[in-house]
Amino acid sequence: MKTLLGILVLLCTVTLTAQNTYLHCGKLIDTKSGKVHKKKTIVVSGDKIISVENGYINPTSVKDITVDLKSKTVMPGLIDMHVHIEGETSPKAYLNKYTLNDADVAFNSTNYAKVTLMSGFTTVRDLGGSGVNIALRNAINAGKVVGPRIFTAGKSLATTGGHADPTNGSSKNLMGDPGPKEGVVNGVEDAKKAVRQRYKNGADLIKITATGGVLSMAKSGQNPQFTVEEIKAICETAKDYGFHVAAHAHGDEGMQRAILGGVKTIEHGTLMSDETMELMKKHNVYLVPTITAGKFVSDKAKISGYYPEIIVPKALNIGPKIQDMFGRAYKSGVGIAFGTDAAVFYHGDNVKEFGYMVEAGMPAIEALQSATVTNAMLLQMEDKIGQIKPNYLADIIAVNDDPTITISTMENVTFVMKNGIIYKK
Ligand SMILES: [Zn+2]
Repeated sequence: MKTLLGILVLLCTVTLTAQNTYLHCGKLIDTKSGKVHKKKTIVVSGDKIISVENGYINPTSVKDITVDLKSKTVMPGLIDMHVHIEGETSPKAYLNKYTLNDADVAFNSTNYAKVTLMSGFTTVRDLGGSGVNIALRNAINAGKVVGPRIFTAGKSLATTGGHADPTNGSSKNLMGDPGPKEGVVNGVEDAKKAVRQRYKNGADLIKITATGGVLSMAKSGQNPQFTVEEIKAICETAKDYGFHVAAHAHGDEGMQRAILGGVKTIEHGTLMSDETMELMKKHNVYLVPTITAGKFVSDKAKISGYYPEIIVPKALNIGPKIQDMFGRAYKSGVGIAFGTDAAVFYHGDNVKEFGYMVEAGMPAIEALQSATVTNAMLLQMEDKIGQIKPNYLADIIAVNDDPTITISTMENVTFVMKNGIIYKK
């Protein structure tokens, strides 16, 4: 009896000492229904949301914290489906692969991760780097580094000389012949091996470069670079490991092959034809637009020496076309997954994408939904993130104005909570 009493006292003490956070929200965006509610209280305990109440509810325990967001609009933490968390644009970027060690890359990446979180992105999908991205994900999950929750592809997969062949542009004696281990595949067997290697390395998903790209040291920014058979082998093997496949693609032919091969998302989609838009819808493939990156590269290409010469015509040609294509794809009913290609521009500027999406004809609320509920679904995290709901992870942000009226307010996220911890107030 005495022991039972002791346990009861202990339980009561634990309940009383558990600290809850009460967020008083002037406006609260329901990303599922698309409605904006007024005067709500979100109660957070540990890393979870435990309730969402009408009106401003005050805590019952002195240990609890109240956060006044009565003048703000509150919404779930944002999700960016396309970043490269290890690097960042600079005229020196092409030299970095010969001068930086993994440790240098790792120290730099902790800063990019922090900037990304502070700008409102509590989750990102990292679409390729050297493998430091995997270590960074683990360090963030372990609470050693401040940053967003990361789902990473590790190293992207390319074919020889393709967009993500790490030795593009090297002199012959440095070029070597990287194989599936380094993400360069030629043929079906290589393709399977490369996916299995990513699993071994600890990746969460697969990224392929289905066509040429703007920033690689190669002539074409749009030629198809995989056969359908190779892409099928990648997608089928990926399925064995619970991975989905994201395909970088600017050219239409490569895009069609990627869709037929079984990828889940098309990144950029620059030269997408009407026929391909139909194919996207038929196969339920989502477009990750990256308009911000397109605008940034076409601006910087006008500055002499910012990019190597071989890059400049590609950046000037491809960059400006993305926003227009996005507008057409949206209108035709292609599924849109918010994603920016941060690293091609400065980390933290991911928030600019919202304004560009709205400018191209997407209603603000749908742009916000693409960065929350849609991306949560694609990451198979729809029961944990992307909404403010009981039992969901407490990933919560706030902005000064109502973004469904003034979308530019997304460029100034003033409150950030991830996993119940306040990082910015
Ligand atoms: Zn990218």
